[in-house]
Amino acid sequence: MDKQQEELAQERFSLPLLTWYKAGNRDLPWRRSRNPYHIWVSEIMLQQTRVETVIPFFNRFMELFPTVDKLADAPEEQVLKAWEGLGYYSRARNLQAAARDVRDHFGGVVPHTPEGIASLKGVGPYTAGAIMSIAYNLPEPAVDGNVMRVLSRYFLLEEDIAKPSTRIGIEKLARSLIPESEAGGFNQALMELGATICTPKSPHCLPCPVMEHCAARLAGRAEELPLKAKAKPPRPEHRAVALVEGTGANAGRILVRQRPVEGLLARMWELPHVQLPEGLLAGGGDAGDGISAAAASPGRGRGAARRPRGLAAAGSGAAAGPEAHGRAMGFLAAALAAEEGAAVLPVEWLMDAEHLFSHIRWDLAVYRCRPAPDFGAVGTAAQGYAAAESAAWYGGAAADSAVPMGQGAAPGAAPGMAQSRGSGGLPPRYRWMSWEELDQLAFPNVFLRILKAYREGIQGQQ
Ligand code: SF4
Repeated sequence: MDKQQEELAQERFSLPLLTWYKAGNRDLPWRRSRNPYHIWVSEIMLQQTRVETVIPFFNRFMELFPTVDKLADAPEEQVLKAWEGLGYYSRARNLQAAARDVRDHFGGVVPHTPEGIASLKGVGPYTAGAIMSIAYNLPEPAVDGNVMRVLSRYFLLEEDIAKPSTRIGIEKLARSLIPESEAGGFNQALMELGATICTPKSPHCLPCPVMEHCAARLAGRAEELPLKAKAKPPRPEHRAVALVEGTGANAGRILVRQRPVEGLLARMWELPHVQLPEGLLAGGGDAGDGISAAAASPGRGRGAARRPRGLAAAGSGAAAGPEAHGRAMGFLAAALAAEEGAAVLPVEWLMDAEHLFSHIRWDLAVYRCRPAPDFGAVGTAAQGYAAAESAAWYGGAAADSAVPMGQGAAPGAAPGMAQSRGSGGLPPRYRWMSWEELDQLAFPNVFLRILKAYREGIQGQQ
């Protein structure tokens, strides 16, 4: 746009939008001040998460970590626990790493230069623009999906917004639209319009403050835009989960393990689980019989009595029949014993659950298990016992695995098994936890849902 076009666009678009925003907008906790730390935390929480979901998390987070320094100094476990339920936990880890950086290298003050702010872990161009404009009123654009949608429609832009070149073009356009000294208000106004009026489906054009000159509305194409190439769907991974309730001294406790320090969901807690070989749960589907009947019609079948309420029957397990579940249970027992020295005996299918990452979808079949009689004497009798018993019990399907080690490995003599044995009778990273203790640990959402449903199921029977 040349200077004249810029001025016209500001007059027709930016100023009416700003006036509309100032006349009344949503009262959100992070809008009550221009504290850069508040804005930063809120923007990280709002990534891929709805405003209504974020509000209670934000308030609690600010109570726990009211300043950058408090967040920087907190134990990571506490930060993850405060984030529990929001998902995408790398956001919380990056936020804390960046807070430590701000404490150590910026005197505890969130930087306001593009270079300083871009150097913080987890802060991309959108978050940087939001902090600089809202907290420091610097004329920087903050372009997210909402803003791309609004501008694509208003200016009838037909480029694919998934392309980096389109984003760069829209950032340039958004920068040119910022009215002098009004960066914070204008960027928030754009976000507000995208969130409340120019929504993805059925935009509300009639009350829209910029409807008069909106090119997409005038062309009758508002609902077609923006154009976006379809992302690849997440790759499904079938997994078997062991829900093991302790006996004897561990009665009333649940077996959990902590994830490795690196990688997906690093250091979070979970129920033990293994990846199943491709196709192991396929076939044998018979919703009218045995365990699968519990999914199709609660109240029937072996699993029905303990099938918790509130869990979807969709997913790998619900479609699987008793034979497939038998194979999965055999594989689960043998793989946990061989890979980690956790000797457990699966008893029955309980439920299915699903966990979506951006690139993977876990389809989880959850099995109630009991510890092998000498659970804890890992790598010796218990391991052999679990593997042998499960193979005999479930037809030895576990021995045929083709899954590589570390991804639901083939049971049997596992290289490195000796290193995986812990002292004190439990494999390393494994713990027996009471329900009260479980409440203190940070779990990915899917395991919280499983544990909650299981607990409710138990309570329902008492
Ligand atoms: S007129 Fe309709 S399509 Fe255009 S910006 Fe407003 S809500 Fe969006």
